[in-house]
Amino acid sequence: MITRFAPSPTGPLHLGHAYSAILAHDMAKKAGGQFLLRIEDIDQSRSRRQWEDQIYRDLDWLGLDWERPVMRQSERLQLYRNALETLWERDLLFACNCTRRDIEAAVSAPQEGASYGPDGLIYPGTCRISGARSPGAPMPDTALRLNMERAATDCHFDELGALHAGPHEVTRTALIESVGDVVLARRDMGCSYHLAVVLDDAEQGITHVTRGADLFEATQIHVLLQKLLQLPTPTYWHHDLIRDSEGKRLAKRDDARALSTYRDAGVSPADIRRMLDVPLA
Ligand code: GLU
Repeated sequence: MITRFAPSPTGPLHLGHAYSAILAHDMAKKAGGQFLLRIEDIDQSRSRRQWEDQIYRDLDWLGLDWERPVMRQSERLQLYRNALETLWERDLLFACNCTRRDIEAAVSAPQEGASYGPDGLIYPGTCRISGARSPGAPMPDTALRLNMERAATDCHFDELGALHAGPHEVTRTALIESVGDVVLARRDMGCSYHLAVVLDDAEQGITHVTRGADLFEATQIHVLLQKLLQLPTPTYWHHDLIRDSEGKRLAKRDDARALSTYRDAGVSPADIRRMLDVPLA
């Protein structure tokens, strides 16, 4: 068993992160497996070395140990680019120049009808419809979206039209209608979270992914990408989100729940485990 914790260094870790990390760590240790760490820093505009260093301090304080070296996404950009090239050559991507405002304007047109998928508004298809390209055209340096209709057709659906993998039974129609043409390369980042996470989990040989229930809808995109790229699908477990006393989920900006705030107030790692209702180490 190989599990992982994959935080983005864009703010302090809070109780919700501790929960995710402890579950993945303890699960691997109990099975005699490995617990890996990955720093998800593809978004260079928001990632800071200072937060990365604090991640190591916080996890160490919690008593978790992980294999070295740690994988850092910012060192893997060329790999992500290569995977995009492959998908581009298979004609599964299209270039998209739409801004958020363009998309909002298109979906509020009376004939379209707006609906939301795992990445926000479902893309209305503007650039896919208008952007026929000649075969063999080089991949442009723009945002790239997955042509979901083609991608879903390229996967092997059984006679029920369902993709049996991961926690979902995903139908082709649901992927097209409720997920749509997701972004796989952002103009400013070269790659999106969905593609990076899939390539990294495969590279690290992750067998079990424990992640928050907020990523449940995104998991179907990851399973689809694994099928398209012929990568193994790990077992997924989506855990409940840790909420504050008003029932709101914790965010990175909730400094009051930052692990470092608890530590500075004299709370012990064992207290954190009790607060999260996970067995003591
Ligand atoms: N990096 C993502 C986050 O901090 C989660 C990674 C994942 O489980 O795929 O929310």
